[in-house]
Amino acid sequence: MVVGILSIQGDFEEHKKALSELGIDSIFVKYPEDLSGIDALIIPGGESTTISRLVKKWGLLEGIQKFEKPIMGTCAGAILMAEYVLNEFDEAEDISFHLMDISVKRNAFGRQIESFETKLKFQGKEFTGVFIRAPKITRHGDAVKVLIEYQSSPVMVQQGNKLALTFHPELSPDALFIYEYFLSLTG
Ligand code: GLN
Repeated sequence: MVVGILSIQGDFEEHKKALSELGIDSIFVKYPEDLSGIDALIIPGGESTTISRLVKKWGLLEGIQKFEKPIMGTCAGAILMAEYVLNEFDEAEDISFHLMDISVKRNAFGRQIESFETKLKFQGKEFTGVFIRAPKITRHGDAVKVLIEYQSSPVMVQQGNKLALTFHPELSPDALFIYEYFLSLTG
């Protein structure tokens, strides 16, 4: 099993560290041909506009859209998974890869609380959810399952073998089991 981590911008190194804690091999994905040897793909947190621009410029968009194996997008990555994206001024932004039937609003927690940590629960286990200038998932279609909620809004959702998380599992040691769930989708 080899996991690819999109490593254009953002905290891809932290995902690599988290996977190596679990004993899972990973490679950095920068070029379209890097997608061919991997069993799953992670789109990390960072700056969604920058990642989007460079994915298009470097010719990776089509490969990501055609990638049939599991994909997990975290924070900026979750924004890029979405069908529709609004910025904090409620303006539509054409930055996402249209991989899941969700709508997201960027930087939706406001400047007062740009970053915070809170306890979340998944599979009966409590862990620390780290949110950094996080988006909110504001709508999800019928094919989308909500796996974790915080204050009545979804923070981790699944559609088939695709996951979107508005928090950063790579930044809390007690959240590593989220990767195991993701990798269970490789079948
Ligand atoms: N605010 C960033 C964006 O909109 C996402 C932040 C993150 O990935 N931690 O792209």
